[in-house]
Amino acid sequence: MLKPILTEEQLAQISFWLKNCSHFVLCAHISPDGDAIGSCLGLASFLRGLGKEVTVVMPNHFPEFLHWMKGTDEILLADRDTEQVELAFQEAEVVCCLDFNDLGRIEELGEIARKSHADFWLIDHHLDPGDFCKVTVSYPLMSSTCELVFRIIYQLGGFGCMTKEAAEAIYCGMCTDTGGFTYNSNNSEIFLIISLLLQKGIDKDLIYRKIYNNYSVDRIHLMGFVLYEKLQVLEDFHASFFTLERKELKHFHFTKGDAEGLVNIPLTIKGMKLSISLREDTEKDRILVSLRSVDDFPCNKMAEEFFNGGGHKNAAGGRLDCDMEEAISITKKAIYTYEYLLVDKK
Ligand code: 5GP
Ligand code: MN
Repeated sequence: MLKPILTEEQLAQISFWLKNCSHFVLCAHISPDGDAIGSCLGLASFLRGLGKEVTVVMPNHFPEFLHWMKGTDEILLADRDTEQVELAFQEAEVVCCLDFNDLGRIEELGEIARKSHADFWLIDHHLDPGDFCKVTVSYPLMSSTCELVFRIIYQLGGFGCMTKEAAEAIYCGMCTDTGGFTYNSNNSEIFLIISLLLQKGIDKDLIYRKIYNNYSVDRIHLMGFVLYEKLQVLEDFHASFFTLERKELKHFHFTKGDAEGLVNIPLTIKGMKLSISLREDTEKDRILVSLRSVDDFPCNKMAEEFFNGGGHKNAAGGRLDCDMEEAISITKKAIYTYEYLLVDKK
């Protein structure tokens, strides 16, 4: 029913691992999002169902609104549980890298991973995968890594045994990576997958509320502040950006996840093509950049060119090691450089 995505060769290697290996480590990218957590928990559940020892590792902590998924309390954080994580990577026979495609994207955890003697298995949907894995399942056109995990489990014949909790985790990542199925989600097979997940008894409306209707009063106030006080709109360019400094975040008692989705809001302005957020990191001395666009505007190219980052066409990110004033001038330069794609042709 669903088109298979693993080649015969990949299938043979994966089947070998499933038959002969017992220790698996699953990890995803820094500042994990719904797709990172969901894809790891979905695959972990499948592997545990086969009797495997599975350790799920994230480079650092993830927002509160993702903690409802079953298994999140067992996730190790490399910056907190470093010794346990090092041990898990030493014992691992297979390391699965989900929702990232370059060890640079997991920062310090990359050093631990490089020391491991395990075989590496990549499952990801970002462009230009690095060549560091024995099996590379890379599909940049797929909605999410969760969609890939579902397809892999399905192709391996594991759908029948999928638990409701695993189905919820997979649905969560598909939902968050597509903005609740409002972008990057026109492939009809996505809805076939959703229909199969619903057969597992998931409540997709409840999951939506757990993800999107779960904010603190502080976060709503932060949102109002950003939109009223901080948003700069370059109308002719159909572009906008806003900045958030550490002292402003502190004023609104910022916690991880509070900035989630803010960058999407300016795209609800009629005709807006590009939205950029510049936020001072509360952990390191740097500015975190998020880019969102509609249609064909390539956020990933702009992120690579100006913000030391990358990502997808309509959603990308990056980092700047400078002060906010310089970050603003880089942002304006980036927007002016892409004038030919942003400004209406006369
Ligand atoms: P966010 O704005 O949510 O931080 O990131 C948006 C998207 O861009 C996510 O899919 C994220 O994985 C990706 N992304 C963020 N930073 C980078 C980066 O430095 N390199 C690459 N390749 N992707 C990134
Ligand atoms: Mn993803």
